[in-house]
Amino acid sequence: MMSATSEGANQSLANKKRINWLNSIFLIGSPVVAPIAGYWHATTYGIGWAEILIFFIWYWACGLSITVGYHRLFSHKSHEASSALVFLYAIFGAAAFQNSIVEWASDHRNHHKYTDLQKDPYNAKKGFLWSHILWILVDNTSEQDFTNVKDLSSVPIIAWQHRHIFKIGIFVGMIIPGLIGFAFGGIGGGIGGFIWGGFLRTVFVHHGTFLINSASHIWGRQPYLQTNTSRDSFWLAFFTFGEGYHNFHHAFQADYRNGHRWFHFDPSKWWISTFSLFKLNKKLKRAPQGSIAVAKLDGRFERMKSQVIRNNSSADISDFELKMAECRKNLRRKMLELSKKNEEYKKSIAAKKAELGRQITEIKGTLADIRVEISKIFSEMKVTSKTTLG
Ligand SMILES: [Zn+2]
Ligand SMILES: [Zn+2]
Repeated sequence: MMSATSEGANQSLANKKRINWLNSIFLIGSPVVAPIAGYWHATTYGIGWAEILIFFIWYWACGLSITVGYHRLFSHKSHEASSALVFLYAIFGAAAFQNSIVEWASDHRNHHKYTDLQKDPYNAKKGFLWSHILWILVDNTSEQDFTNVKDLSSVPIIAWQHRHIFKIGIFVGMIIPGLIGFAFGGIGGGIGGFIWGGFLRTVFVHHGTFLINSASHIWGRQPYLQTNTSRDSFWLAFFTFGEGYHNFHHAFQADYRNGHRWFHFDPSKWWISTFSLFKLNKKLKRAPQGSIAVAKLDGRFERMKSQVIRNNSSADISDFELKMAECRKNLRRKMLELSKKNEEYKKSIAAKKAELGRQITEIKGTLADIRVEISKIFSEMKVTSKTTLG
C-alpha cells in the first residue's frame, strides 16, 4: 500500500513537466538549420522555378489542411466535407508536422473550453513563448485524454492517419517534394525539393499556426468578445490563411468563417465556400447576423460606459442602459426578421426562375414540333412536285 508521503511525492513528480526531446530538437533546430540549408542549396545548385513552385504548393496545401481541415472542419465541425477532401487534409495535415488530427483537435477543443485557464494547453496568460512554442516541447503523453474527440477517432481516414502519422508526414511532407524536385532537376532539384518544399516550408507553416496561439491572444482588437484574451488582427490574417480574426472565432467558433465580412482576408473561408459550389462541402455554418451585431454592440457599449464613468464619476448611466437594452432587443429581432425575409426573397426568385424555366422549355418543345411540321410539309411538297413531273 502506498503511504501518503510517497503518494504526494509521486504526485509532484507527475506534475513536473518532462521535455519531449524529439519535438524540442526539431522545433528549436529547424528555424536555424532550414534557412542555412536553403542558403547552401541556393548557392550550390541555384534555385529554379521547380523549387519555388513546390514550396508554394506545399505551403498552401499544408497550411490550408491545418486551418480548414484540422481547425474549422475537424475541431469545430463548421461544415461537412467529402471524403476526398478529408483524405487530402489528412495527408497534407500530417505533412505539416503538427501531430495527428485526433491530438490536434483534442488540444484545440480544450483551448476553447478552458481559454486562458490551467487546462488550456496553450494558455496565453503564460506568456508569448509558452503559447507560441514552449507548450509543444513539454511531454504530456501521460496526460493525454481523447474523450473529447470520440466523434473523430471513429472516422476510418482519421484513425488511419493517427496510427501512421509520422510515416505519412515524412512521405508526403519530405519524400514527395524531393522526388518531384528530382524529376525536374536531377540531384540538385531533388535536394531543392526536399529543403524548400519539405524542411523550410514546414518552418513557415509551423510559425504561421503558432502565431494564432500566441500573437492572436496578445495583439489586436476585441470587437466581439472581451472575456478572454483572443484578438482580431487584420495583419495576422495574412500569415495564417485568414485565421487572424481570432476574437470573432472565439465568439462564434462553429462559424466556417473567421473573417465574416466579404472583404475580410480569409482564404480558408474562400476555400470552403468555393468547394461548396461543387457540392464537395456542405452544411456551412454561419452565426446569425443578429447575434454578431449584438455582440459587437455590447462591446462598444461597455467601452463607452467605462469612458463615461472614467471622465465623469458622478454620471448616472442607468438611463443609457435601459435605452440600450431596448435597442439591443429590437436590433436582434429585426436582424432575424431581415435574414428570414432575405431567405424568402432568394427562394421566391428561385421559384419564379424555375417556373419561367418550365415555360421556356415548353415553348422550345412547341417550336421543335412546329419545325418538324414545316420540314414535313416541305418533304411532302417535294414528293408532290416529283409526282407532277412524272
Ligand atoms: Zn485562441
Ligand atoms: Zn478554434
